[in-house]
Amino acid sequence: MTKLFVISGSSGVGKGTVIKEFLKKHPDFKLSVSCTTRGMRAGEVHGENYFFLTKAEFEKCIENDEFLEWAEFSGNHYGTKKSFVDECLNKGDNLILEIDTKGALNVKRLMPEAVLIFIAPPSLEELEARLRGRHTETEEAIQKRLASIKLEIENSKKFDHIVVNDTVENAVKKLEKLMVDSSRAK
Ligand code: 5GP
Repeated sequence: MTKLFVISGSSGVGKGTVIKEFLKKHPDFKLSVSCTTRGMRAGEVHGENYFFLTKAEFEKCIENDEFLEWAEFSGNHYGTKKSFVDECLNKGDNLILEIDTKGALNVKRLMPEAVLIFIAPPSLEELEARLRGRHTETEEAIQKRLASIKLEIENSKKFDHIVVNDTVENAVKKLEKLMVDSSRAK
């Protein structure tokens, strides 16, 4: 019976939307709340989206070995607390970690029963077009993102499953097939 799922995906791929839609339909799944040192965005709530920590607080947690995994991403620290994961799994919750691919592979090393799922864009060209379509970033920023996306796709070769996000509806269906079935299997 699988309870722990790790979902990763490149930025711009829409994994947040897919996970949100999945959770709406499956309230018996819980999304893990990570710790981060990045600033709070408008609308975010401490303890709901993230536990927002100062760099010193985050470093204290590293020192005390409180993280199952942690990583640096775009200049900020992100980490999953062991206590959070243990509490959920002990309660029998189905837990989803939404973390980067490096963190996902670290979790798999420590907890081989975790199922790793990568949400992929239909094609790199389409993702590039989507990023450019936002008109919010400089060419340099887009190139930086594309490089990190390629690295994430490389890491995803070690994942258990790849779900292509062609439409949100299809991607949610594919997640259901992978997650609901395996969480119920004996
Ligand atoms: P954002 O700042 O957009 O919320 O997240 C940036 C990236 O950090 C995303 O790829 C997200 O999946 C990843 N992330 C969020 N929480 C964690 C965590 O606890 N550990 C790791 N390794 N990555 C995380």
